[in-house]
Amino acid sequence: MRAIIIGAGIGGIATAIRLAKKGYQVDVYEQNTYPGGKLTAFVQDGFRFDAGPSLFTLPELVDELVSLQAPNVEISFDYKKLDESCRYFWDDGAELTAYTNPERFGKEVEAKFDIPAKKIVEYIASAEFKFEKTARIFLEKSLHKSSTFLSPQVIPAVLNIYKMGLFESMHQLNERKFKDEKLTQLFDRFATYNGSSPFKAPGILTSIANLELNRGTFYPEGGMHEITMKLVKVAESLEVKFHYSSRIDEILIKQHQAVGVSLNGEQQLADLVVSNMDVYPTYKELMADQPQPEKVLNQERSSSAVIFYWGVNRNFKELGLHNIFFSNNYKEEFKHIFDSKDVYEDPTVYVNISSKLTKTDAPEGMENWFVMVNVPANSGQDWDKLIDQIRKNVIEKLSKRLKLDIAEHIITEHILEPRTIESKTSSSGGALYGTSSNSKFAAFLRHPNFHRKIKNLYFSGGSVHPGGGIPLCLLSAKIIDDLTPHAST
Ligand code: FAD
Repeated sequence: MRAIIIGAGIGGIATAIRLAKKGYQVDVYEQNTYPGGKLTAFVQDGFRFDAGPSLFTLPELVDELVSLQAPNVEISFDYKKLDESCRYFWDDGAELTAYTNPERFGKEVEAKFDIPAKKIVEYIASAEFKFEKTARIFLEKSLHKSSTFLSPQVIPAVLNIYKMGLFESMHQLNERKFKDEKLTQLFDRFATYNGSSPFKAPGILTSIANLELNRGTFYPEGGMHEITMKLVKVAESLEVKFHYSSRIDEILIKQHQAVGVSLNGEQQLADLVVSNMDVYPTYKELMADQPQPEKVLNQERSSSAVIFYWGVNRNFKELGLHNIFFSNNYKEEFKHIFDSKDVYEDPTVYVNISSKLTKTDAPEGMENWFVMVNVPANSGQDWDKLIDQIRKNVIEKLSKRLKLDIAEHIITEHILEPRTIESKTSSSGGALYGTSSNSKFAAFLRHPNFHRKIKNLYFSGGSVHPGGGIPLCLLSAKIIDDLTPHAST
């Protein structure tokens, strides 16, 4: 039996591995000349940059895929757990380092902010509790099959519903817990891990903090792009064929059944089709003559980003792998992103420096900076003008806080922004994580991993259930694995 996957994003590669392991002959068609979609990398003037994701959590989901490799090969995926998760900086001179051990982080908060360590430890334990009780229902299973809700795992979640924070926003919950502006801001930031606003996203998403601050932040040997490269190798070991520069134009549907795809006028038939491309263009471009689930497709997009990749010609001892320079007005920043759909003049700036851990990512004595600002998804804004303003504001903010003119140290630059994210990956609006989680019903409004009316058509990746980010994309593949039969010969 043959399976065709449209797109070699991380969700597509993971689905390819799982279907090949079930006996399918798998072909992946990718419009780009390379795999990985958003999870890719590039080299410029001697600096190597991971172009997309920089934060790696739940590595066991990658391990699980690596363990499916063919018996005759030895593909290893190596990574280490980091002690430090992120360095936080505020304009008034305050700074705080978060650790992946809750007790250690608690001590740091107590020393710097005079808030009892116990509060942090309890908060993170409650985040773990929420995650543990809900992950098996909301993330690891299809939300669109009644069997999910009849499983015994639903009972503890329902019994503890009052502890889940469903009825207040993340910000309200964090403000109530900490009664401290900076700590509230720090924990609010986890809403951005799925491209949402802490002022709108439900309190249950405070469980995200647990991933980084308890289960841990990890770093793959050689950088994030290794996740893509190793999983492609695993897929190839199972005889998955990757076809690059191959843009699919249509999903072929006959009598309510997906029967293949077409590219450049040529038909490729299959027993099963999986779209790993964003679900919006999947319907609008590849299934234009089918009924369109407009309510699902028109959900609010997650945030996008403007990223400056800077080669800088010196080292910064005060910075680590992950660094955040907070805005002075977080509420205003999110109002701009999700309401007026532009960019606040004092944005929060994330600086990731992989050369702190992989020395060869930058020439000796230099660093590779990935400098990211959250922005709205593309809806036709004047991005050239906005990017000029963001660049100026970011340089001013970092220069003030680091007490030197950053602009003088940038020796090479590349920019990625909503329009180019969209054109390189077909993600609607250049959204990083598909749709936002700015409502308590968001999880239920994401497109299912299967089509309700068209047999043999499945969906993986960040724009469908359970959502965006590497771990959730990998889980979408796992759900498809659960939903599909073994290949018969
Ligand atoms: P995508 O990466 O969206 O890839 C889809 C693929 O389909 C693309 O390769 C595209 O070319 C291909 N395609 C589209 N249309 C067609 C067609 N018609 N025919 C053939 N091929 C087609 N996540 C984290 O976990 N941690 C982070 O720190 C993090 N940071 C991020 C930072 C940035 C700047 C970005 C952009 C994303 C970040 N994310 C992060 C999100 C994460 O990268 C995504 O959720 C994830 O990689 C999406 O994977 P996907 O499977 O949905 O596929």
